[in-house]
Parts: sequence; structure tokens; C-alpha cells
Amino acid sequence: MKCTASAQLFAQAKKYIPGGVNSPVRACRSVGCDPIFITKGLGATLTDADGNEYVDFVCSWGPLIVGHAHPDIVGAVQRAAASGTSFGATTPVEIDLAAMVVEALDSVEKVRFVNSGTEATMSAVRLARGYTGRKVVVKFDGCYHGHADSFLVKAGSGIITLGIPGSPGVPDDIVKNTISIPYNDLEALERTLRDDKLEIACVIVEPVAGNMGCVPPAPGFLEKLRKLTHELGIVLIFDEVITGFRLGYGGAQQYYNIAPDLTCLGKIIGGGLPVGAYGGKAEIMNCIAPDGPVYQAGTLSGNPLAMAAGIANLKLLQQPGFYERLEEKAAGFASRLDDLAATIGIPVQLNRVGSMMTAFFATEQVTDFTSAMKADAQRYGQHYRQMLAGGIYLAPSQFETAFISAAQSEEDLEKAIKMTEWSFKKLLEK
Ligand SMILES: *Cc1c(COP(=O)(O)O)cnc(C)c1O
Repeated sequence: MKCTASAQLFAQAKKYIPGGVNSPVRACRSVGCDPIFITKGLGATLTDADGNEYVDFVCSWGPLIVGHAHPDIVGAVQRAAASGTSFGATTPVEIDLAAMVVEALDSVEKVRFVNSGTEATMSAVRLARGYTGRKVVVKFDGCYHGHADSFLVKAGSGIITLGIPGSPGVPDDIVKNTISIPYNDLEALERTLRDDKLEIACVIVEPVAGNMGCVPPAPGFLEKLRKLTHELGIVLIFDEVITGFRLGYGGAQQYYNIAPDLTCLGKIIGGGLPVGAYGGKAEIMNCIAPDGPVYQAGTLSGNPLAMAAGIANLKLLQQPGFYERLEEKAAGFASRLDDLAATIGIPVQLNRVGSMMTAFFATEQVTDFTSAMKADAQRYGQHYRQMLAGGIYLAPSQFETAFISAAQSEEDLEKAIKMTEWSFKKLLEK
């Protein structure tokens, strides 16, 4: 694999951009190599600056459920751009996407668009605090809700990958109002929520954790969370930035049949453009300015290009059988990976929900942050480099989710299986 062009670009990037990247995990440090520079994506195929091609299992960390440069999305963005890229004013197209979101999610009566998942979760928490008049946020170890101050406590994604406990620059005064408890621990949940000294405003959760690798909710976990928060008047926030329109058109809340009070969205609803959204019960959403006193705003919020891309993407997901086909493809692929690991004799725990999956190099089941951390990240690094050399693009961290998209063909998946077989065998050498 030739990577001279990428190496040159990385040297240049480091001169102008901290670490050469605009988001830390992209620097590939935990997998022990330098990043490749992507110049093109089409369907399931990525091309880098040296002309190498890869089958993409990252899908821009989730948004690209129909693959790169889908003609419907490209066309919608082109048409929108030709009519003006931003107005900072009300437009008809934002009503269309809002109506689609409200239609898709039973628990959402009103929705506000922002520009990223981070903005969505940050705003949802402010709203929950404003609505309840309470301060404390409960989250779960290993869940990631973007990079706002309140969430950088035992967080997932780059925080785990880089092995840092939190972040300098986040004052203790802020994080003292965030409590992080183990995911899937029903006892800790009950104990914490029932502690009435705490004055809990909200609980925020990834209904399927995706940012410590894919970790499904244990049976009864989400049910108990709903029951307790309801009883105690605590706002329940589902962070569906990954799972929204991923596990089905109605997201994780439909998949598990549990209605949160507020939902955060991002990734897929922007079709690959920068978008986030938060929505929920009208009674809560009406507390946002200008109807209510909780302030939240955005120059580019509801941007016409992003709205057009989102609408085009959601329309593709409405095709009959879309999610059934995706499930079948993902299930088949996962079971082949499982068989492969068993045949070769390499310890792998394969977690999958719908088209989200992670193969942990671990001997015991991965059900939370503590068990995820037992995975062999060193071994993953070697696997990552071998797969990359073989034309398979995986996330540059053991603690991330691989995504199946509608764009990956039988051949693409076959190639991934062959390369995995080769890589697993090589991992066991000497
Ligand atoms: C990606 C992600 C976010 C943050 O979204 P950004 O657009 O990166 O700010 C928040 N929550 C979850 C669950 C995510 O996966």
C-alpha cells in the first residue's frame, strides 16, 4: 500500500491544524499509524490521496447509511445551493424536515434544528434543567454525548481512545453537576435516581451505546430507566444521534418501544451535512425561546443545504423493506465474522444491534465500560493496519462501532470477510 501522498499531506496538516486533524480520533494514534487522506467517496468505496481504494465501514461515523455521494442527496444539495446557501431566516424546507422527524418519532411533537450532535445534547440538557429547575445530569460511563463541558465525565469515543479521564479546561464547578454511573447497572440506576439529595434534572443515555464500541442495553435497563424517571419527574433524554433512523425509521425508541421525553438527533438526519436536532413533548419544547425563557440559537441552524440533504436521505429510508434488507445483510455478515473467529480460535466478542456492530478482541462478554476496557486495543491496532493494507477501512479505534450501509455490495462484504480471515490468522502468528 502506497501512502506517500497521505504522509506528505499529514506533515503539511500538522503545520496548520493541531495534531493535523479537526477531530482527535482521526489522527489514528491508538492504532499506531498515520491517517490516510480521503479524496473521494462513492457508494461504499473510499479513495485516498495515493489512489488506494477501501470498502468503508465507518460511513462518516454513522451518517452515510446509503453510502457516499448518493445521487438523490447530491442532486438535492446542488439544487438547494443554486438557490442560496444560507439566509439566517425562516425557510419552507425546514418545516418539511421537521414534519418528517415528528412523523417518524412518536415521542417527538416539536423539534429544533442545530448544527451538530454536540449542540443537540448540550441544548437538550439546558432545556431539561430549565424545565425542571434542577441542576444534576446523570449519564453512563462510556457513553458519549458530544464534547460539551457537562458530558466530559467518563465519556466514550475519543476520550476512551486517548485514555484521558476528562478534559482540562472543564471546571470542576461544572462537572460536579454531572454524575456518571455504569451502563446496564440496574441497581446503581435505582440507587442514584432515588437519592433525593441530588436534585436530578435529567438522565441522558445512548439507548444502544455506540461510543465504547457497540454495547446493547441489557434486558430491562431502558424499561427501568423509563419507569423510574417517570415516577420521579426526571426528564429522560435519548441520545439517538447514532441510533436515530439507523435501527429503524423510528430509531431505538421504536426498536425497544420506549418513549423518552426528549430525543437528540444528528448524523443520518443531515445526510452527511452538519446537522443536529432535539425534540420531544410540546410541553417541554415550548420552554425554548422565543416561546419560553430557555435560550438557544444558531446562525446556520436549519441551513437549507443541510435540510435538503436530510430530506433526501430520509426519503430513501422510507423505501419499503429498507431496514429489513439492512438487518439481513448485517446479521449475515456478523454471523460469518463470528464463525470465522471461532474457526480460527481468536477470542472475539461480537456485539451487534441492527446495522451497528463491534468485534471486541476480548474473552468475556462486553456489557459496559469496564468490560469494554478489557478488550485488547493493541491487537486491534494491528488488525486495523492489516485491514487497511487489504483495502478495508475500519474505525481507527477498538471502542467504536462499525456500520453496515445500503451501499455495501455482496462483493464488498465478501472482500471484508476474506481480509478478516487473513488478518485474524496473522494476529495469532508467533
Ligand atoms: C456523534 C455523537 C454525538 C456528537 O455529535 P457531533 O455531531 O459529533 O457533535 C453525540 N452523541 C452521540 C451518541 C454520538 O454518537
